[in-house]
Amino acid sequence: MDGKKKPMRVLVTGGSGLVGKAIERVVKQEGGAKEGEEWIFISSKDADLTNEAETRAIFEKYQPTHVIHLAAMVGSLFMHMKQNLDFWRKNMAMNINVLHMAHEFDVEKVVSSLSTCIFPDKTTYPIDETMIHDGPPHESNSGYSYAKRIIDLYNRTCFQQYGRRYTAIISTNIFGPYDNFHLEHGHVLSALIHKTYKAKRDGTALQVWGSGRGLRQFIFSLDVARLFVWVLREYEEIEPIILSVGEEDEITIKNAVNAIVEAFGFTGPVIYDTSKSDGQLKKTASNAKLRRYLPNFTFTPFHTAVKETCDWFADNYNIARR
Ligand code: NAP
Ligand code: GDP
Repeated sequence: MDGKKKPMRVLVTGGSGLVGKAIERVVKQEGGAKEGEEWIFISSKDADLTNEAETRAIFEKYQPTHVIHLAAMVGSLFMHMKQNLDFWRKNMAMNINVLHMAHEFDVEKVVSSLSTCIFPDKTTYPIDETMIHDGPPHESNSGYSYAKRIIDLYNRTCFQQYGRRYTAIISTNIFGPYDNFHLEHGHVLSALIHKTYKAKRDGTALQVWGSGRGLRQFIFSLDVARLFVWVLREYEEIEPIILSVGEEDEITIKNAVNAIVEAFGFTGPVIYDTSKSDGQLKKTASNAKLRRYLPNFTFTPFHTAVKETCDWFADNYNIARR
């Protein structure tokens, strides 16, 4: 042995999704990968990660040194309200299988993905990395939240018992190319991009769900991807790190709707259906920790990212998930 560190072999679960595709672009097109490194992007077609044997077979096949764990059952507020139990059961199984196989196969580092919607419903704002377990999550997405919270528990106990340095990021609402643009199951921006595209095409009204008063911090998938690669290489804490734009960049759903309407040049009526839920009114997150590490990181301006996503959807209508 010459004492040199082996190049990383990174397994990315959920590699076909919104964040996985953005990481693939950063790695393959923005020079995010270093010489000798191997990046493997898998989807549910390669293995059903809710199944332990299939998960083991993937680790046996690829023998990764590092894992970015993105695979999850993911969906809108409205999908959560209908399938809370499935979100809990499937995500619990995937998280336990992937983390446990990583440990068994001696993976050096795992970075998993949490979300700001898993924080306590009754809390003070802004929320920060220390507050994940302080109280019950919002009941609309409690299944997803508890399944995500156990990732943090796994990371802490695995460090305590075996000294493993597994960690997680916590992201606010992500959007971008390759999102799920399904009208009901898609997250707010992707669903509204699809709805606006259709309303313009068909000459109908745009139906927004809820009052539009809800507040969210939206982050572009390419920014998440660049930060994910930094976390994998540089971030050494077990405690997770929030990846978010600043508190001052939190906007109302109504302002987000206006950005989409502007990007498409939609001139028809916009109707707010207040019989539909607003979900959590806000979940304002602090990015102070991220700013301490990366004071100069530049986020893509919201309007630029919305325009790029609307254009991507229109150009890729036939292949987009919808
Ligand atoms: P996504 O676009 O819905 O992609 C989900 C990925 O998981 C897909 O690659 C999917 O594979 C894979 N997957 C689902 N079930 C699987 C199974 N049983 N076995 C193996 N793979 C499976 O999700 P995303 O938005 O990129 O989210 C990535 C991560 O970030 C998730 O952990 C999510 O919880 C977290 N997150 C997302 C947001 C957001 O706003 N989107 C915010 C915070 C955190 P197929 O393509 O084959 O179905
Ligand atoms: P959340 O941010 O985790 O709550 O989940 P979503 O991405 O589904 O966003 C839900 C918020 O967007 C709520 O305030 C909804 O009332 C609002 N919203 C407005 N129109 C839509 C829509 O067409 N789809 C979705 N998913 N949410 C919408």
